Amino acid sequence: MASFLEKGGLKILSLSRMPGMKRVTTALVVMTLFAASAAAETPVAEVSQLQLYSSFWQNLHHFLYVSAWATRPVVPGQARLAMPLPPGSDVSMAPDEKATWDHAVTVYERDFASRDLLFGQRMTMIKLGLVDRDDKLTGAPYDDELKTLLLSAAPIYRKYWWPAHGAGHRAWIEDAVRRTTKYAPAIIARLTTLYGVPWFGRPVRVDVVRFGKSQGAYTSNNPTHIVVASSDPGYAQWSSVEMLFHESSHGLFRKTQLAIEDAANRAGKMPRDLWHVVLFYIAGEVTRQELAKDGVEYKPYLYAIGLFDRAWPRFRSPVETSVQPYIDGKATLEQMVTSLVTAIP
Ligand SMILES: [Zn+2]
Repeated sequence: MASFLEKGGLKILSLSRMPGMKRVTTALVVMTLFAASAAAETPVAEVSQLQLYSSFWQNLHHFLYVSAWATRPVVPGQARLAMPLPPGSDVSMAPDEKATWDHAVTVYERDFASRDLLFGQRMTMIKLGLVDRDDKLTGAPYDDELKTLLLSAAPIYRKYWWPAHGAGHRAWIEDAVRRTTKYAPAIIARLTTLYGVPWFGRPVRVDVVRFGKSQGAYTSNNPTHIVVASSDPGYAQWSSVEMLFHESSHGLFRKTQLAIEDAANRAGKMPRDLWHVVLFYIAGEVTRQELAKDGVEYKPYLYAIGLFDRAWPRFRSPVETSVQPYIDGKATLEQMVTSLVTAIP
């Protein structure tokens, strides 16, 4: 449930490799776009501009990342960047397949595992580069080594893991969309009012993978692109609704974040993560309130997994006291922010 504002993008990266070749570059870009549209994937489901995909390449990339982490010993007290693989994830494969797969995992271990999927260098570029690719990764803006590596691992992943992974997150998508569809109009109306921005005018891509980042879901901005790990037990049932709106909020929260940070700066406080705790609180509480209108009892993520007390105990009381009246329409943004910044240590 993290977010990162990335400036620039793929086009700039691929163009910058060909200085002084404007005409050729334009032609290549046109071909790339054509290739991309020819391979365009279809979302499994859509709700209020959120298009949920079951992408083979995103799943392979994230599974290699998680598999690389699985080779590292667990050291008590040391943070891990990937989810653990469940017991029984090992499969028995032919020796040549095993050699190819192990090599891919070794390269991921060496080159990518130490980089955070969201904040690490090139990781957002790699993730976005996998969008809408055909089975040859045509147009992917990678060096030959990464492209060859992914292509070599692909048939093995497809054979041994993809059927179960694909089925698993398709089931998750179906359930999440069914639950979200009914409440989306009301939740969106409230969130956009609180954030002071309109809802997305264009589709937002949500890539559903089986295993991923240690926190399960993450979102990069410009464009807003969400990845959700469907096997995360924290996203089952009604939690999927909060999670989808939490991650969406990362693309809509800039104004609120700046208001909080400006007020904190003026007060000479540097409360790291405070804006994210406020986002957590708003998305969770609005979801809880809308479900409660239907008699559904829901405990927001911050409380359900003990995140408040474990990660941000010093923010709990200030956020509860200051943000709740704002959600309930009893305080303005300015009042909420002032109260919040005064109350934090
Ligand atoms: Zn988050």
